[in-house]
Amino acid sequence: MFSERYRSHHDAEHRLGAALGSRSAPAPWEEVEKKLKAPPEGKPRGVYIHVPHCDRICTFCNLNRRDRKNADLDAYTGYIIEEIKTFGAYPYIRDQPFEVVYFGGGTPTVLNLKQLGRILRALRDHLPLKPDCEITLESTQHNLPPARAAALGSEGVTRFSIGIQTFSDRGRKILGRTYGGKRAVDELAALRAAFSGVLGIDLIYSYPEQTLEEAAFDAETCAALGVDSASFYSLMIQGSSALAQSIEAGELTFHRDIDFDRERHHLIYRALRNAGFSLLELSKLARPNRDAYRYIHIRYENGDLLPLGSGAGGNLAGFPIFSMAPGRRFVSAPNPEYEKYYRILGLLQFGRYDAAEIARYLGAGAEARIREKIAEYLDRGFLETGEDGSCRLSSEGIFWGNNIAVDMLQAVIPARMVETVGLRS
Ligand code: SF4
Repeated sequence: MFSERYRSHHDAEHRLGAALGSRSAPAPWEEVEKKLKAPPEGKPRGVYIHVPHCDRICTFCNLNRRDRKNADLDAYTGYIIEEIKTFGAYPYIRDQPFEVVYFGGGTPTVLNLKQLGRILRALRDHLPLKPDCEITLESTQHNLPPARAAALGSEGVTRFSIGIQTFSDRGRKILGRTYGGKRAVDELAALRAAFSGVLGIDLIYSYPEQTLEEAAFDAETCAALGVDSASFYSLMIQGSSALAQSIEAGELTFHRDIDFDRERHHLIYRALRNAGFSLLELSKLARPNRDAYRYIHIRYENGDLLPLGSGAGGNLAGFPIFSMAPGRRFVSAPNPEYEKYYRILGLLQFGRYDAAEIARYLGAGAEARIREKIAEYLDRGFLETGEDGSCRLSSEGIFWGNNIAVDMLQAVIPARMVETVGLRS
């Protein structure tokens, strides 16, 4: 049914953006400021803080990051704190509690304990954080020794997301990770012992010549070490990454077809399911009641996400905002059509296909078409019916989850709106 696999929600978002025209018609900052001076709108809300620095650049990475060499991290900390104070003075920000803070990167933990502590205190002093606010830090292992994780836990951090990628020595070398496999296992075990909050890890599968044994070892180790959730992504070869260049130069052979990808996906998915994990979103499994991951819900529900730091993307009162540097932000005009379909895309990331729920964003007239598509996905084995009658993606459906979401959007977006570059599976 699909000739190419969309490996992440970014692929699906890209298709959606192309289909509905640009999402980024610029808007003046004054428009946002007008909203910030008004009362809040009651949307779910969080803060996203971007720390773009890394002390080692991984071979596969094409994220918004840069080498920390020569970076003035004290100055960067000061910039974030000033941003917190500036936004915290607006009624829109001040008058409704925040339920989530997410530090992404780059590597937020290149900031030292003192710098992170200053930011965490500024957040509490100047923003209305809920008492049970979910506070996540992304990190690499070598930037987060156990004692540091425990100290950050005492400062209010509730959740760490650790980029492991693989426990295989060979795989780690290909991906440019810092430790060997054994050290990665030992450090993660020590981290688990030191930190009682939510511990999530990222795994990458289908890297060059990854064996099934290597994939199984990654899943089994993750389960055995007591982590709470695991994101697992098929390796994406990004245009300008060092890995892409090595493949291009013939230094590394990489032949991956759909069967190679599927075999590793299913193996990891099933191993984690057998260990008691269940689907949290298309590329993430979690132990029951351990990782609510509220941040992702706010993003997919078009909530308010206050973007702080260089390279932070967010959304306030419907305005997409990209923060570039002190005093420099790119603002887009709200696009209600995009938001509506993005909301459906977000809903489908959780693997549940409920015609009435999807139709809620489109009007009852769309429900018959949605039911037809759901029947088709059941027929193809992408969906399974649970004992309660609900339809959920099967393992094959999860593998193709972003393609299926795009296919569903294609079925419900009126043809007149779909441009020639639009939704084609
Ligand atoms: S994968 Fe993470 S640690 Fe590695 S370069 Fe990218 S942002 Fe930095």
